[in-house]
Amino acid sequence: VFLSSETDREKQHLAMRVGGDDFLTKPIKAEHLVAAVRNRARRFRELRSLMLRDSLTGLLNQASTRDHLSVELSRMRRSDQPLAFAMIDIDHFKAVNDTHGHPTGDRVIRALANLLKQRLRSTDVIGRFGGEEFAVALAGTPPDAAFTVMEEIRRTFEAIEHRGEGVSFRCTFSCGISCFPAHARLDDLVEAADRALYTAKDKGRNRVAMA
Ligand code: GH3
Ligand code: MG
Ligand code: MG
Repeated sequence: VFLSSETDREKQHLAMRVGGDDFLTKPIKAEHLVAAVRNRARRFRELRSLMLRDSLTGLLNQASTRDHLSVELSRMRRSDQPLAFAMIDIDHFKAVNDTHGHPTGDRVIRALANLLKQRLRSTDVIGRFGGEEFAVALAGTPPDAAFTVMEEIRRTFEAIEHRGEGVSFRCTFSCGISCFPAHARLDDLVEAADRALYTAKDKGRNRVAMA
């Protein structure tokens, strides 16, 4: 936001063309300046949140999950620490939608998102990767500890009673975990977790598989 005593319209427009959001001319009341800046900062945050977060769950979307994972990987590499990456996919979710309806399916997705937010640390990266798929990055966490955490979340989730219309039902998820430094590159890490998830599905679902 430009603040100047310049009153020449042409010059003001020039300033806007190089990236200004607004041009305020002096004199201006302090509170007006503060309001102008505050409004724009708030709008920027709202816009950024729309771009980086998934609207149904408030979790990171796939692109920003990958960005965060990449930053965490570099951090772990520098400090010589492990990292665990987990891919989660709700089991037979199509049947949940078919039986109980899409809005109820949405509530199941939100329930799992909330469980992940509750159980994981605020520094962990939690994202919604696609429809009923989630991804979690646990920085500083070795493979066995990651397995224990995801197993506990799996058992908590399978015990939740979801409410459909007039009935209650339960859901499960399958999970695949891969680890840094065994898988050193981001793409390898994601691919290995995905393969492990596939194995978990193949072995009968409702389980956690290590890459
Ligand atoms: P599997 O155990 O093999 O994972 O079976 P599945 O039925 O969960 O897998 P599939 O990929 O066949 O179906 C996923 C379903 O998720 C299909 C799609 O309609 C549903 N879905 C995707 N996004 C959303 C969403 O935002 N809300 C709801 N309610 N359903 C969604
Ligand atoms: Mg799926
Ligand atoms: Mg599924």
